[in-house]
Amino acid sequence: MIDKLLQNIAPHHCYSCQIRGNVLCDSCIYNIANDAQNACINCRLPTSSGICNSCKLPFGRSWVIGAREGELAKVIGDFKWSRLRSAHSPLSDLLDIFLPILPSNTVVVPIPTISHHKRIRGYDHADLVARTFAETRGLSKRNFLKRKDNAIQHKANKAERRKQAEKAFYCNKALDPSVPYLLLDDIITTGYTIKAATRVLKGAGAKEIWVAAIARQPLN
Ligand SMILES: [Zn+2]
Ligand SMILES: [Zn+2]
Repeated sequence: MIDKLLQNIAPHHCYSCQIRGNVLCDSCIYNIANDAQNACINCRLPTSSGICNSCKLPFGRSWVIGAREGELAKVIGDFKWSRLRSAHSPLSDLLDIFLPILPSNTVVVPIPTISHHKRIRGYDHADLVARTFAETRGLSKRNFLKRKDNAIQHKANKAERRKQAEKAFYCNKALDPSVPYLLLDDIITTGYTIKAATRVLKGAGAKEIWVAAIARQPLN
């Protein structure tokens, strides 16, 4: 409702083709999702399952829509840091177009946002995308992962990020081992976060974990 009101006062332009309307218009959403090539989430080799044969990863499948560049990077950046709340809708649409049909008992689990960032934004960006995607697909969304502390990753080096990720989450529920869990993250950088989150969910009883993210940090 508030999104709609704001949109009428200050209409957006598509970040990709500049057409007036949403931050990504329907045809640009389709183009981005249809151009997406799934690659191994770890080594970036092209592979349909999102995990190549050489990489040993704790989750069974993964999907990442594209590199964190161009309009995708801009939409995610403004969604996170410029209060572009309405971006949850096109970002969820991208996932909806790109991901295959999932079993109806799949549980969508967002990677929890750092509380400090939630306060700055006024919303939990990851939870919004997870909720919208789950609603679109008729799946349940559960916040099984909690954050232990508010460690901020921005300036950390690789080793520090790994340590932060390993102690970042907990789950205080016993999870049903018979259903698949889809972990949802916005950007995959080192992969430490999703690996740590997967270990926590498995520790709570989950057997099958899948991972979906909107963008991957380009290798440099
Ligand atoms: Zn467009
Ligand atoms: Zn690989």
